[in-house]
Amino acid sequence: MKQHQVEIDTSKCIGCGICARVCPAHSIEIKDKKAVTLLDDCLICGQCTAVCPMRAVSISGYDTGQNEKKEDLRLKPEEVLDVIRFRRSIRQCSGK
Ligand code: SF4
Ligand code: SF4
Repeated sequence: MKQHQVEIDTSKCIGCGICARVCPAHSIEIKDKKAVTLLDDCLICGQCTAVCPMRAVSISGYDTGQNEKKEDLRLKPEEVLDVIRFRRSIRQCSGK
């Protein structure tokens, strides 16, 4: 059983098709002017939840919704470079 699943509130969906256009896995279609999910290949990337103008798309299992950009954010280039430089991730895979 999948832990996360894309859910579309059809009462909010206006059938604009933006979610289907941005989905990298082609996991959303518009049928009868409503978005429907074809979840077999869903990557749980969240693109569809980010672009929906009606906030009709969500992913189950997460407590965060769509985040709005409230101000113009500028990152300091030297800090971005340090974040990249100081990242140390070592993963050991079991091979299973
Ligand atoms: S982006 Fe939102 S409103 Fe538009 S089709 Fe998809 S779910 Fe419906
Ligand atoms: S989460 Fe990503 S892959 Fe899954 S339906 Fe939405 S846009 Fe497509």
